[in-house]
Amino acid sequence: MADLIIDQADFHDWIESILVDRPVTRLLIHHTWSPSYKNFNGSNHLELQEGMRKFHTKDRGWADIGQHFSTFPDGKIVTGRSLEMDPACTKGANQNAICIENVGNFDDEGDIMTELHMKTIVEAAARVCGKWHIPVDADHVLYHHWFDLNSGQRNDGIGGTTKSCPGSNFFGGNRPEDAEAHFFPLIMNVLLP
Ligand SMILES: [Zn+2]
Repeated sequence: MADLIIDQADFHDWIESILVDRPVTRLLIHHTWSPSYKNFNGSNHLELQEGMRKFHTKDRGWADIGQHFSTFPDGKIVTGRSLEMDPACTKGANQNAICIENVGNFDDEGDIMTELHMKTIVEAAARVCGKWHIPVDADHVLYHHWFDLNSGQRNDGIGGTTKSCPGSNFFGGNRPEDAEAHFFPLIMNVLLP
């Protein structure tokens, strides 16, 4: 199926309208690092998405693009991998997961997240958690940084080999305590207004 570009305001209705047979119990959060904001020209969502798909399928040999959704600096959300397939995003946590890749480099010294993007990242995460009743906590909404890249073991980003993903400056930091302090409350604000 062709990728869809979904407006932030339409995402809630859209996700509630779809049927997914696969069990979903967790949400994986990433940044793309590359492509980043400098590669986005305001209208090339699908080209960037297709570039990631080519990289994942041709270079990595995966069945499709790794992520189910990509979010963009203008607040749009683009669909990717079939929701009936586990993602290829976080070794050790892909089973029964939904994966969101946020286009940008959110490390310190990286891209400054736009307000629209911030809102969409929170909105997308909240609506995924809402649809599948995923608890908004550090056992179910998971940053890539918390998993060893080689073993897939969870280490909360301490020791081992990890990426900084979704970025050392992502909503105040990439540690579990940063997510609990800065990201999860924003998700809860959407779910329990
Ligand atoms: Zn990642």
